[in-house]
Amino acid sequence: MAEQGGNVRFGPDYVRAISPYVAGKPIAEVAREFGLDEAGIVKLASNENPLGMPESARRAVAAAAADLGRYPDANGFELKAALSARFGVPADWLTLGNGSNDILELAAHALVQPGEAIVYAEYSFAVYALATQEVGARAIEVRARDYGHDLDAMAAAITADTRLVFIANPNNPTGTFLPAGQIAAFLAKVPSHVVVVLDEAYNEYLEPAQQYDSIEWVRRYPNLLVSRTFSKAYGLAGLRVGYAVAQPALTDLLNRIRQPFNVNSLAQAAAIAALGDAAFLRESAELNRAGKAQLAGAFERLGLEYVPSSGNFVLVRVGDDDEAGNRVNLALLKQGVIVRPVGGYKLPRWLRITVGLPEENAACIAALETALK
Ligand SMILES: *Cc1c(COP(=O)(O)O)cnc(C)c1O
Repeated sequence: MAEQGGNVRFGPDYVRAISPYVAGKPIAEVAREFGLDEAGIVKLASNENPLGMPESARRAVAAAAADLGRYPDANGFELKAALSARFGVPADWLTLGNGSNDILELAAHALVQPGEAIVYAEYSFAVYALATQEVGARAIEVRARDYGHDLDAMAAAITADTRLVFIANPNNPTGTFLPAGQIAAFLAKVPSHVVVVLDEAYNEYLEPAQQYDSIEWVRRYPNLLVSRTFSKAYGLAGLRVGYAVAQPALTDLLNRIRQPFNVNSLAQAAAIAALGDAAFLRESAELNRAGKAQLAGAFERLGLEYVPSSGNFVLVRVGDDDEAGNRVNLALLKQGVIVRPVGGYKLPRWLRITVGLPEENAACIAALETALK
């Protein structure tokens, strides 16, 4: 046996090379670190719904809590039935995930071998890089255009050994949006052996004029997987539930490698309730629209460059040097405002701010003004 502290190395190089995901700081942690009262802290760091979870879901969770001695339904029959009715696809076109993060990783694990390639865009969601590294795949990161995906360049970047392309629409952390026409043109030219994961975590926030029917594309393309989540507009981030829509051949592969009970029973019950709660979704979208306008107005008044966002967050440039993001972030934390520095995304001059309640946005703006003085 090797003694403790020896130079034994475990696991493959590609696992040791991973830098773990950095999440938004929890309120309790900031309160401890900065000696602040939790009640006064504003968290606009993780793109959560500022309304919290819908009342309908809260009631469903309370009812489902009575049965927690039992395993969840491994096949998520009722939630799939509800999604199936909503989207007009059979249940065997649906995969449930422990958050849509689970779906993204299932796709990488099911479809890509070590050494094969995965294509994604610069400044796109951090989990694409992580999922790529986890499976020992080769990342092909394609230069962004105006902070968003350059789909022509992404199509051109596909190699013979590319197995997967990740597209976020809208994208996180930049908030950029790809109109339907661009995606349709991209799908038409992607080789049929390459799977496209279209990550629509913020789909429910799209303006009516932006909305498009990605499920129709799933009917048309056997190599397309659309992923969505209950974490953002539906307000269930803590419960961890997302889903994928894809034709049965692709769905079957994901199903083979997922954990049998990857979505817990409280999450399934809450998701069914939230899916049926059109009023909550409408209220969330309206609040988000007003909040984005409030933040944008303040950024313009303060002379701060920002990227117009189609999500529930805004990327804003807070300085001209590569320390600016961390510096302003620290000044905000000291005032009890938690946002997300994005240096890890190679955007060290920027912060990503989640749209909150009007008073939370106002507190964030006031703290930002102080921080920039
Ligand atoms: C938040 C987010 C997700 C995943 O969230 P889950 O809570 O795991 O469903 C996926 N993609 C993008 C682009 C996101 O911003």
